Amino acid sequence: MPSIRARLTTTYALALTATLGAFAATLWIARGASGDRELQRYVNDEAQLSLRLLQQARGVSGDLPLTEAVDPMIGTVLAARARLLLDALPNIVMLTDTAGRIVYRSVEARTLSVGSYDEIVRNSRQLTPTRAATLAISRDTTGAIGDYVRARGLDPTDRVLMVRTDAPRSVLPIQSVIVATPTRFSDRTRQELLGAMFAVAPILLGASVAAAYYIAGRSLQPLDTMMDAVEAITDGRSLHRRLDAQAAGDELARLAVTLNEMIGRLETSFGGLRRFTADASHELKTPLTVLRANVERAMAAPGGSSDQLVSLEEALQEITRMADLVDSLLTLARFDEGRFDLHREAVPLEPVVREVFETAVILGEAAGIDVTLPALDPVTVLGDGTRLRHLFLNLVTNAIKYTPRGGEVEVSLRATEGHVAFVVRDTGIGIAAADLPYIFDRFWRADRARSRRAPAERGVEQRGGFGLGLAIAQWITQAHGGTIGVVSRLTRGSTFTVTLPVPTPDELTAATDEA
Ligand code: ADP
Repeated sequence: MPSIRARLTTTYALALTATLGAFAATLWIARGASGDRELQRYVNDEAQLSLRLLQQARGVSGDLPLTEAVDPMIGTVLAARARLLLDALPNIVMLTDTAGRIVYRSVEARTLSVGSYDEIVRNSRQLTPTRAATLAISRDTTGAIGDYVRARGLDPTDRVLMVRTDAPRSVLPIQSVIVATPTRFSDRTRQELLGAMFAVAPILLGASVAAAYYIAGRSLQPLDTMMDAVEAITDGRSLHRRLDAQAAGDELARLAVTLNEMIGRLETSFGGLRRFTADASHELKTPLTVLRANVERAMAAPGGSSDQLVSLEEALQEITRMADLVDSLLTLARFDEGRFDLHREAVPLEPVVREVFETAVILGEAAGIDVTLPALDPVTVLGDGTRLRHLFLNLVTNAIKYTPRGGEVEVSLRATEGHVAFVVRDTGIGIAAADLPYIFDRFWRADRARSRRAPAERGVEQRGGFGLGLAIAQWITQAHGGTIGVVSRLTRGSTFTVTLPVPTPDELTAATDEA
């Protein structure tokens, strides 16, 4: 789906192309019509001029003959006096007498082929000074006329616009004047106009489209800014922030106000939820502690039967589980509210990982799992030692929890350029590819899948967690600016990798000084 900006620009470009096209067509038609009108006026003027010249050829007394019979073959022609005068005229001028015969042809008219005369005379019958016609003519290119045509650079074929004017009685026996002139020049003007438009149009179009693209981009900028702001707000932890309705501009201000109201409602309900979890966990802590103390006291009291002891032992286990859950919930609720006390100090990871490993060995021994530590690079990071220990321990206990007896768990800490990777690899039950995207979700467990598990996974002790461990692990990693990832195959085992940034010596010194 193309962006709004691209769509706006394309629509604008199409509209502009259509407008320019329509404009060019109108100009072409208008220019053509006005060219034809000018040409028509021009030939009419020449016809009038011819008539005036004929009247002049009548002499001062006005009774000199205008035609003379030359010989029976040729018939009547225009008198030499008049002919000399009219020969000065440009264009095709022809005179016919009352019998409809051509009595005079101008210099240019004489270059026409025989067929063209007849064509002109035949077509001229329906014409008047206001009713012109265009006609294709051809010139005689043979003999002396041909030489003349070539010498003057005339085209052998041409299109002409012609009119016919009736002669007044004063120039009898001349009955009509036919004048024709090539349309070539007005056609050329039209073509030149179109050529210029075709040359200018792409530049105009390109510049306008670029301007439209820029303007569309600028107009959509506030929307972009608003979307970025909404994205930043709705990441879950910034719901207290609001969009700047003033900066959003007229049309977008309403949208900003509406979104702000929505974010406000979200903040209220999110806050309510978090507060509830935090308050409930907090309130549950004290009774659980009291309960645990009481159970422990009851267990220590002499005289209890072994059945009672077993029941108390079970009760104690459940209380411990519940206390763990309450602790996890409280931790996550605090994370969500941003009320967490994450210390930032230099933490040498080597002793932390060694301690976690030692715990893992003890847990592994009980579960019949071989735990190894192939690499332990000495490296110091900036962060909260207690939380990091919690994170590592969580991954290691998971590895032992989800690995059957006889399996292996490998823990390692390797420093690379600017980073350190804590890796826990197990040969356990693994995680199905379809489950992988969810394992860091709160309360997500693969329990349902586990009931369908392959025989190799039998023997995994069902120690129920709550599905909160990895959510907390992910949160701790992110709070330290790191990443957590997993590679796993069902029945083949899993590898969890936590990557943390290693500070530069300067950063370490600065952090130590601050502390
Ligand atoms: P839980 O308390 O259930 O262990 P976690 O958040 O630590 O909760 O883990 C979520 C789920 O991810 C577990 O229920 C289990 O299905 C799966 N999982 C975690 N670690 C492993 C592992 N090393 N091997 C196989 N599955 C694992």
